[in-house]
Amino acid sequence: FMMLTKKLIEIRSILLSIDHNDTLKLPSIVVIGSQSSGKSSVLEAIVGHEFLPKGSNMVTRRPIELTLIHTPGSDEEYGEFPSLPFGKIHDFKQIQKTLTDLNLAVPEDQCVSDKPIELKIYSPNIPDLQLIDLPGYIQIHNANQPASLKSKIEDLCEKYIKPPNIILAVCAADVDLANSPALNASRRVDPRGRRTIGVVTKMDLVEPELGAKILRNRDYPLQLGYIGVICKAPSNTADGNLTKTVVRNEDNFFKGHYVYNQRGINVGTVTLRRTLMSVLEQSMGRSLSGIVDAVQKELEEARYQFKVQYNDRRVSPESYLAETVDALKHRFKDFAGQFGKPQVRHEVRQMLEQRLLDICAEMYWSDRKVSDLPKALYDDIYWLYKLDLSASALTKSGVGRSTTQLVLDVLLNNMDILTSMEPLNYHPSTKEAIIDFSNEILRHKFLTTSDQVENTIKPYKYEVEVTEADWADGLKRTITLLERELAMCDKMSEQIKQQVGKKKLRSAIKYLLDLEKEEQRKAERISEVDAEPLESEEANDLDLNVVSRQSYPPKVLEKAQEALFLRDRSTILKYRLAALKSRQCKTADNKQYCPEAFLNVVAEKLTYTAVMFIQVELLNEFFFQFPREVDNKLVYQFDRQQINKFARENPSVQRHLDLQERKAKLEEVMEKLNYLVRRQQDRQERAGVH
Ligand code: GDP
Repeated sequence: FMMLTKKLIEIRSILLSIDHNDTLKLPSIVVIGSQSSGKSSVLEAIVGHEFLPKGSNMVTRRPIELTLIHTPGSDEEYGEFPSLPFGKIHDFKQIQKTLTDLNLAVPEDQCVSDKPIELKIYSPNIPDLQLIDLPGYIQIHNANQPASLKSKIEDLCEKYIKPPNIILAVCAADVDLANSPALNASRRVDPRGRRTIGVVTKMDLVEPELGAKILRNRDYPLQLGYIGVICKAPSNTADGNLTKTVVRNEDNFFKGHYVYNQRGINVGTVTLRRTLMSVLEQSMGRSLSGIVDAVQKELEEARYQFKVQYNDRRVSPESYLAETVDALKHRFKDFAGQFGKPQVRHEVRQMLEQRLLDICAEMYWSDRKVSDLPKALYDDIYWLYKLDLSASALTKSGVGRSTTQLVLDVLLNNMDILTSMEPLNYHPSTKEAIIDFSNEILRHKFLTTSDQVENTIKPYKYEVEVTEADWADGLKRTITLLERELAMCDKMSEQIKQQVGKKKLRSAIKYLLDLEKEEQRKAERISEVDAEPLESEEANDLDLNVVSRQSYPPKVLEKAQEALFLRDRSTILKYRLAALKSRQCKTADNKQYCPEAFLNVVAEKLTYTAVMFIQVELLNEFFFQFPREVDNKLVYQFDRQQINKFARENPSVQRHLDLQERKAKLEEVMEKLNYLVRRQQDRQERAGVH
């Protein structure tokens, strides 16, 4: 029937998991006493194992919050450090070592720290108790300890012996109790001795008459009394359970002395344990209503926040994942719906048209003879050959690979955009996984697609049949294309003009043109010289002429060069546009006079064919497989823990989950508390009836 302590200890650990600021204080038993008074020995006798740090060098430097949990029916005994990742520790020597390490981690010059070490011990042989072991009081400090140490330890103990805690004041029988720092400290905070238990250790070291006198202490009476113990176990009988050995030893001693069997005298570790349990239980009972109020307040606050912030809407990591995946699929579907043949065709056409412009520039526009083209003979082999060469350059430029790669890049780029939007921006590793498997699907399809495309455009490498309708379309597109190109040339020229300045640019261009003319003349002269040697002086004069002109910074000359190029390109484009718009280009029969239009017809045929196969082999496959991979790689492969981690990557979901969890735990705690309150009321009523 000592269940309040157990339940409240359980409740405490639930509360600790949601709230570390300790607004909900449960009473604990605080163990104080001077160094070597036998504090550790008492605690170990209660637990039944040696587990506390030992040594002369001030080994308890931090409070140890010790929770004992009675586990009836189990034969397992182990400890757990809730804040360390070790899990269950069955070897108490290991617990002792860990405690020693944690204590010695406090630097020597600070000596004590008020940051507690939490330790839970589970065993069928221990009562449910909540104990706090504090550093022992010192009388004199040794040379390498700071002078402030004494008061530091006193301050630390002072913090812990406040109500509702119970004070376990440990004093040794062989030291005068009037000097006990533990009793002195207790007297200051609990003058009427209501929540102090005196534990007198080393009873074996004093004469029984004196011992009994100490236990009857009339100078400083305690309502909970004094209990005499002998916690030093005879060293040769360590048979596993320390408690049994200690108790047997105590029994032998106390039964042998008549005075210790008198009424009003309390002795033995068993009595001590029983007293601790009932005192703690009663104290818990007194604290219950305060705890209920505090939890109720916290719960109301949590409910209010949940209502205000989330309108009572619940979220679960699973539902969040499902929503996120749905949103992704939805977005993907929208994208797949928009990214059909026309869009792919647009992309591919743009790429091939750019290629076409490059070919025209190289084959025609830089050919000085191009101005003669409209007047060329119908069967002029030069132009016919050039047209063939240009068409081949286009059809044999690896269209399969490049178009497939282009579409793949566009797709991946879009996947990047899709996965960068809320809420996937909170989940970088998931985004990466999505990009990875998108890439995988596409890579997998890449070779077959590009081979297919290359195969199906093969006939165009030998012959392209052009209908009049094809021609009319091609011509129209070419005119648009060249006009756009022309506009771009003009725009760039304008930019250069603005960058360099109109006047400066004009003079730099003039300089370059003069230079060119000079070079030309010189070349002509030299070729004349070949026939009829020239005076060397005259050649020198020429050189001088060139060099002596105004000098321009290289940047300006570079820009002038560019401007010249653009001017030439603009001229030729205008010229070619006029040709394309002339009667001559109205019909496909004249294709050798209008290579730009012819190449455009070829590009269009390539585009059409490539897109058809890319659509079937790559796009449809991708659009089909992607949502399935999303399910396979994200939804089905995550376990609970991963789903939880995923949801908490999003800060707003994390806040939502935290508050929800807090509310749920407070509700659980409240339910448990209400049960305890009802039970207490029942018992009080029954007690009243009898
Ligand atoms: P702490 O510094 O207060 O934790 O004291 P310890 O528990 O380490 O005990 C100090 C010394 O007193 C140790 O050598 C113990 O063996 C010894 N001791 C503890 N309890 C008793 C006891 O009841 N009788 C005797 N004779 N010695 C004890």
